Amino acid sequence: MLHEFLLAAARTAPHRPAVVEFLGDDRTRVVSYRELDALVGRYAETLRGLDLPVGERVVLDSDTSAGAIAALLACATLGLTFVPVSPETPDQRVRTIVAATEPALYLSGGEGARPGVEGGFGVARFGPEGCEILRRPASHPESPARPSQGPRREVADTDIAYMIFTSGTTGRPKGVMMSHRAVTSFYRGMLTQRIVGPHDRVATTSPLQFDFSLLDIGLALASGAAVVPVPRARLRWPRRFLRVLRDTGASQVNGVPSIWRQVLRFEPERLAQLRSIRGVLFCGEDFPLPELRALRRALPEARLVNCYGATESMAASFTDVPDPLPPELTRLSIGFAHPGAEMLLVGEDGRLIEEPDVLGEIHLRSPALFSGYWRDPATTDATLVPDPVDPGSGRRVLRTGDLAYRGEGGELYFRGRTDSQVQIRGNRVELGEVERRLLEHPAITAATALALRGPDGETELAAFVVVAPGVGERETEVELTDFLAAALPGYMVPGELRALPALPVTANGKVDRAALAQLTEAAP
Ligand code: ADP
Repeated sequence: MLHEFLLAAARTAPHRPAVVEFLGDDRTRVVSYRELDALVGRYAETLRGLDLPVGERVVLDSDTSAGAIAALLACATLGLTFVPVSPETPDQRVRTIVAATEPALYLSGGEGARPGVEGGFGVARFGPEGCEILRRPASHPESPARPSQGPRREVADTDIAYMIFTSGTTGRPKGVMMSHRAVTSFYRGMLTQRIVGPHDRVATTSPLQFDFSLLDIGLALASGAAVVPVPRARLRWPRRFLRVLRDTGASQVNGVPSIWRQVLRFEPERLAQLRSIRGVLFCGEDFPLPELRALRRALPEARLVNCYGATESMAASFTDVPDPLPPELTRLSIGFAHPGAEMLLVGEDGRLIEEPDVLGEIHLRSPALFSGYWRDPATTDATLVPDPVDPGSGRRVLRTGDLAYRGEGGELYFRGRTDSQVQIRGNRVELGEVERRLLEHPAITAATALALRGPDGETELAAFVVVAPGVGERETEVELTDFLAAALPGYMVPGELRALPALPVTANGKVDRAALAQLTEAAP
């Protein structure tokens, strides 16, 4: 079970730090494994008093902190499914999640439920001292199981540990349900990569509603290392972000590529001074190569790991970035699946692709697959599909919607999503291809291409770029069209090309394509 797996160090190394919180002004708070374990026990005891049946949902509204980790582990202990959201999650989105999941409890690190978020759920808050029930759940006439009747059943490994609503960059948001068994088998696969050891301090930068934060928590605690939550507001300020890393002695830093963008632009020297950083793990989208090269220059000794995966399996692969980064490298590999899992490449005709350079869709065989989308059996069936190699085996695999091809050694290269293949005037265009060419221009550090519906109903291409510091934006815009046209057919050259000071990002820190699309509509 999740809590047993993550709290093993409470027995073997109780005095070691489990969480190091940054409090500001050179102050940190260290919570040992013994203290974390005790906190989980206290929270669980309070929640047990509510007598909620196994499988009831608990909305967990918090930043990542020792308290939040204890709260999610307390839920796991009791077989309650936690649904993480964070203070950054807009109220409207919380209301949607509450309406969809009908939680029995709203548990927060703040003052209780937010104004305007209503329902018959109970309300509780947690803090360093313990957990306090502010309101008991109302018994639901439609849900006779609440509060529980009869003896409470045992928690099984197949029970749902958590449910995460995807941010929607890969389609409309869906409630992804992960069982205890799936999460712990994922953690086991991840641990074989030996990314951190018991003396590491793992800085986590993703908000709690993004499962990357649960990956970080698992990576640290299951290794007997410490979690270092980076206050999210500090990420926007390169110096403040680096200050947290310095003061907490972070040795491993995890996050989406965009957390590095401002640091690399404005404070690369200061980053280079942080000698304690031995590893960086990034996940969630392509790391633009010019930026990755800058990261490598600032941290020449660090191990850089490209983690590929989706919420439906937490992650699938961990691939070391080559060291040194060959100058001719144009694409990062997402390698092979972690031990215990396998990434298959399936062509449009359903055939398995083994040879290099042929595009197919990644299908993941893994013990760490999600159980289904909350109350959505049709989408679940479209995503958890019979194993294409052996449909009669009863085994299901995850159809990822991600395109890739193999290299000479069989390793995979991500090429975008199946839905990022668009038709421009009858020609098939891969948006990632346009982005890749843009990134080959020496002045460009980041690029995103979009397909938009033009005024006459035709699909048009637009692209947004970030130029290196000190380079003229206007000149680059003009020059870029020629640069693209020199290598790509005319239909792949975007009609609209704009340089921005920064690319907008979603709540999870990925490039916000919807926000970019709006910019083009607003454009003169
Ligand atoms: P959402 O963005 O909708 O919340 P996910 O976080 O599950 O959903 O997104 C998973 C997707 O992100 C993958 O299917 C893939 O397209 C993309 N992705 C994840 N990791 C990487 C990576 N290392 N390189 C490139 N793309 C990635």
